[in-house]
Amino acid sequence: MPRLEATLDRIDRRGYGAYKDLSGSHDFGLFVLFIDRVQRDPFAPPSLIRIRTKANSFDPTLFENPVRRVAFEDFLTRSVVREIRRVVRGNRGSGGSGRVEIQRTSQIVLPRTSIVVEPGYVEARMAVGLPARGRSVDARAAKTVLLEELPEVVRGGLVPAPKGGVDAERARLHIETVEDADHLRGLLPGLGLVAFVADGSVLPRESGASDRPLRDGAVPFGSPVDYRVEVELPNRGLISGMGIPEGVTLVAGGGFHGKSTLLSALSWGVYDHVPGDGRELVVARGDAVKVRAEDGRSVSGVDISAMIGDLPGGRTTKDFSTPNASGSTSQAANIAEAIEVGTSLLLVDEDTSATNFMIRDERMRELVRREPISPFIDLVRPLHRSLGVSTVVVVGGVGDYLDVADRVILLEDYVPIDATPRSREVTRKFPPRAPLAERDVLPPRERAIDTSSIDLRRGKRQTARGRGLHTIELGSERVDLSYLEQLAEAGQTEAVARVIREWAAAGEVRGVGELVREALASVSEKGLDSLGTYRGHPGEMSLPRAQELAAAINRVRPLRAAPKT
Ligand code: ADP
Ligand code: MG
Repeated sequence: MPRLEATLDRIDRRGYGAYKDLSGSHDFGLFVLFIDRVQRDPFAPPSLIRIRTKANSFDPTLFENPVRRVAFEDFLTRSVVREIRRVVRGNRGSGGSGRVEIQRTSQIVLPRTSIVVEPGYVEARMAVGLPARGRSVDARAAKTVLLEELPEVVRGGLVPAPKGGVDAERARLHIETVEDADHLRGLLPGLGLVAFVADGSVLPRESGASDRPLRDGAVPFGSPVDYRVEVELPNRGLISGMGIPEGVTLVAGGGFHGKSTLLSALSWGVYDHVPGDGRELVVARGDAVKVRAEDGRSVSGVDISAMIGDLPGGRTTKDFSTPNASGSTSQAANIAEAIEVGTSLLLVDEDTSATNFMIRDERMRELVRREPISPFIDLVRPLHRSLGVSTVVVVGGVGDYLDVADRVILLEDYVPIDATPRSREVTRKFPPRAPLAERDVLPPRERAIDTSSIDLRRGKRQTARGRGLHTIELGSERVDLSYLEQLAEAGQTEAVARVIREWAAAGEVRGVGELVREALASVSEKGLDSLGTYRGHPGEMSLPRAQELAAAINRVRPLRAAPKT
C-alpha cells in the first residue's frame, strides 16, 4: 500500500500512460490488490483488477460441494455489487474515471468468473476506471477510489460479519435455495416428470424489460389437484406443486391468461434462481430447449428430413443448408439441432411459431398436395414415442392439438385447471375430420463441423468476443443470438465466443455433440478461467449450457458442416 501511495504521488498530473506504473500486486494487509491491466486512456474500457483476501473466514459448509460453492460465489458477487452501490461515488473526472465494476448478474445463479472461493482466500475479479482530469493522472481521486472505497467494498462485501459486512444467514438462505432447486431438478426423471412448478411460485415478471418478479397483483401459482405432486427437499422439507409428466402437454387458455408466462418460467427452469425471484422452485429438465421460428437464420448441413421432405427441385433436406431460412425451415432446424445436441423436452409457444410448421388443416391438405412440411402436430407424439422427447406446447387458437395431447392444462385468470377430461368431450363432439398423418421419426443424422471454416480474421487480427447478450463477433462477422431464449447473461455469450475461438484455432472436423461435450467437460474440470486470462484476469464469463453453445456454432455463417458418415 505505501508503494501504491508513493507511486500515485509520483505520477500525479502526468500523462495517463503513467498509470502503467501501478501494474502488479499491492499488499493492503486485509487483501492483496492485483492491477492486471491498465487502460490506455480514461475513455477506454476500465482497468482490470483482482482483489484476493488474505484469509477465508467463512463457515466452510457454505462452499463444501460444487453446487454450494457456485451459489456462494454468486452470493458474494451480488454482495460486492451492493457494496459498490453503497460505497463508490463513481464519476470523478473524464471518461470512466472512478467507476468500480464487477460482472453484472441476472435473476439466475450461474458459475461465473467474478468471484472465486477457495479454502484459503476469496478473490473478486473487477474493473476500475482509473481517474483522470482531462487526459492526465488524477492521483487524489485515485487514492480515494483505491485506498478508501475499494477496502470498504472488500470489508462490506467479501468479509463475514462481525469483522466485515457479509451476513452469514443470508448467505445460507441463498445457498440452501439453490441447493433445493438443484435437488428438485434431479428428482424429475425418477418421478417421470419433465417440469415442476411449486405452489406459491410467482411467475409473471415486472415488465417485458425486467426479469424481476411482478410485485403488484401477481396471482401465486396453485397446482390443479390431478397434477399435484409432493416432494421432499433437503432444506425446505415437504413442498407441493404441479408436476408435468413426460409426453405431450398442452397449455391452453384465452389470450392474456398467463400461458406464455408459464412456458417462459419453465424455460428458465433449466437454471437456478435467487431467493425472492418467485421461480426458485420452478424447474425443468436441464436440457429443455425452447424452440421457435427464426426466419433469416443460416442453417448448415442439418438433417431436417423428419419434419420437411424434399424441397422444390428435388433438393434433399437430409443435408439442408441455407443462408436465409424461412419460418418453418428455421423452426425445423432449431428442433433438429436441439435433438442433435441432446434434449428431453421441447417448449413450443404458438405465439412464436410458424403457423405452417405447427398445423395444416383438412382444406389445405386437400388443396395443396405438394407440401413438403409434416406439421409438428403429426410429429409431436412420435417424437416422444420414438426419441423420448417430450413437449409442452402452448396453444390459444389451434384446437387440433387436443387430439395429440396426453393432457391439457387450461389457464383461466392465471389459475391452471386440469382440462383433460373436458378436452376428451370436446374431441368426441368435434372429431377430427382427417385422420392424423402420424409416422415414426428417426433422429436427425449428427453433423460433422469443419471448424477451420470459422473465419476469425479482422484486418490483421483474429477476434472472437461477446458483444452484449445477443451478439458474438467472429472476425468481421456477427452471429445473431437474439432468438436463443434461454441465453441468460452476457457472460455466457463471452464464454461461448471464447470456446468458438478455440475450435477455430484447432481447425478440426468433428461432431457437434462431441465438440460441445468436450468443451464443457474441460471447463467443468479446469474452470472458466481456462478459456483465457490476461495476467490472471479472466474478464467476465458465465457458464453456458451445451444447448446454447451448440446453437451459437450452428448460427455461424458460413460454416462447413455435413451429416457425419
Ligand atoms: P397469454 O400467453 O396467455 O396470452 P401471457 O402469459 O402473455 O398470456 O400473460 C399476459 C399478462 O398477464 C402478462 O402481462 C403477464 O405478466 C400477466 N400475468 C401472467 N401470469 C400472471 C399471474 N400469475 N398473475 C398476474 N399477472 C400475470
Ligand atoms: Mg402468449
